[in-house]
Amino acid sequence: MSRLEGKSKRASMLPYGRQWIDESDIEAVTTVLRGEYLTTGPLVPEFERKLAAKVGARYAVAFANGTAALHAACYAAGIGAGDEVITSPLTFVASANCILYQGATPVFADIDQRTYNIDPQAIEALITERTKAIIPVDFTGQPADLERVHKLAEQHQLIVIEDAAHALGATYQTRSIGSVSHMTMFSLHPVKHITAGEGGVITTDSEYFYHKLLGFRNHGIVRDPEWMEHPSRGRWYYEMQELGYNYRLTDIAAALAISQLDKLDTFVNKRKKIAEAYHQAFCECEEIIIPYQEGKGESSWHLYVIRIITKSLTVGRDEIFDRLYSENIGVNLHYIPVYLQPYYEKLGYKQGLCPIAEQVYEGIITLPLFPAMTDEDVDDVIQAVRQVISDCKETTVTG
Ligand SMILES: *Cc1c(COP(=O)(O)O)cnc(C)c1O
Repeated sequence: MSRLEGKSKRASMLPYGRQWIDESDIEAVTTVLRGEYLTTGPLVPEFERKLAAKVGARYAVAFANGTAALHAACYAAGIGAGDEVITSPLTFVASANCILYQGATPVFADIDQRTYNIDPQAIEALITERTKAIIPVDFTGQPADLERVHKLAEQHQLIVIEDAAHALGATYQTRSIGSVSHMTMFSLHPVKHITAGEGGVITTDSEYFYHKLLGFRNHGIVRDPEWMEHPSRGRWYYEMQELGYNYRLTDIAAALAISQLDKLDTFVNKRKKIAEAYHQAFCECEEIIIPYQEGKGESSWHLYVIRIITKSLTVGRDEIFDRLYSENIGVNLHYIPVYLQPYYEKLGYKQGLCPIAEQVYEGIITLPLFPAMTDEDVDDVIQAVRQVISDCKETTVTG
């Protein structure tokens, strides 16, 4: 396939996202390997302090991954059998799976047509006596409508666990994401804003949640004599007070996370610039809806999701997707509505549950977006999208 201006396709596949590792990251990790602690040592609390300060929260608790962090937050919130928790269908499966881990029922509220974030009106309609919490997802890095979500939570005494896996570095009104909800989750997976290989964090202002989260991360074991149920019998004494897990982060990972956190602002700025280039390139293309920004917050641009309007095209979204992929543009799709997954279907969730999410899902494509992209990479994506769309247009006969 040839391109406009005679450019031929990229020599190698451009992924949709990937980490940025520099020499300072490598040095931070090798220093740990030469030192005393490999698993949770002094660097985990150092990372937690730095991240909490960065987002303006009182506490941060680091976990082995973001999914474990969400599980811990559901536990700390007291979510259990018989409870319902409302979340978005247009998200990674982990946002809903954490509810199932605690034996509760995920309830999917449809999304807003424009932002693709959970719709507060849909949430309100689904609140029952059993509702315990809401898990809004800051889709692609754009904060959900947190003002209205929190208003509902207050009215109905619900806990808000914000899934901000996409939104480290984003702001909402005057605040940083991580300081808005009762608990906020960040992921340290390599495609996310900063990475630890694997890792996750919960931020909170609540001392109660903080202690619950710490316990859950480490088998429910308590070592501080102040928190014992029985009198301490000596230095060696510890108590398992709750059923926790081993969800600890290693110091190796924490070293990488600290080193990456120093670069967060640079990473987010690079992401914003690339998103801006895509806006400019596609805002006048009739076949593409660019990501709508509501303006209550500022996205940290984890993903750039375009929606294809196929009305004037000879092919559908899937064909556009395949053509981009064969141009070595590593497009992706975020997301298949969670409840359409076979596991959820077997639990009784049915097609048609969230019509807007399903409709959006049929039209979306995620374009590559990560800070290490070069100007040429960005240009390759723009040219390939333009070419594929133009190749697939109905030819109108004039005259
Ligand atoms: C990445 C992600 C998670 C899970 O994070 P992991 O660190 O991969 O476990 C949860 N929710 C959303 C929306 C994500 O994108």
